Amino acid sequence: MDDLYREVIIEHYKNPGYRGHLDPHNIFFADNNPLCGDHIEITIQINEDETVKDARFDGHGCAISQASADLLMEFIIGKPIEEVKQLNKQDILDMLGIDLGPVRLKCALLSLKVLKAGVYGLGEASDSLVE
Ligand code: ZN
Repeated sequence: MDDLYREVIIEHYKNPGYRGHLDPHNIFFADNNPLCGDHIEITIQINEDETVKDARFDGHGCAISQASADLLMEFIIGKPIEEVKQLNKQDILDMLGIDLGPVRLKCALLSLKVLKAGVYGLGEASDSLVE
């Protein structure tokens, strides 16, 4: 991993700006990555014009899973829900600024999977959401 990007991930892991829980919230979803033991849950508030008013994540796990969740929450605040629904694997990789092998990719994509299951109002999150 490139040192510069490693610093970005460690900084977001150690000092997340968007860790927390919004109450009340319009969207809540939680899921795990059993391969690594990562857990992510998100709460989102939606404006009347269908944009993201505020977003927070909580959870535990490896640096990549937690840093990608923090970057993702930061990214979606103010964005239209329709745009959030279109986010994919490459968007997360662009936020992290690194390429990841298949195991670490699951860590990086957990927060997006949780987010998309939440905004789509699904009962469960599947990997096909983040391809
Ligand atoms: Zn992980």
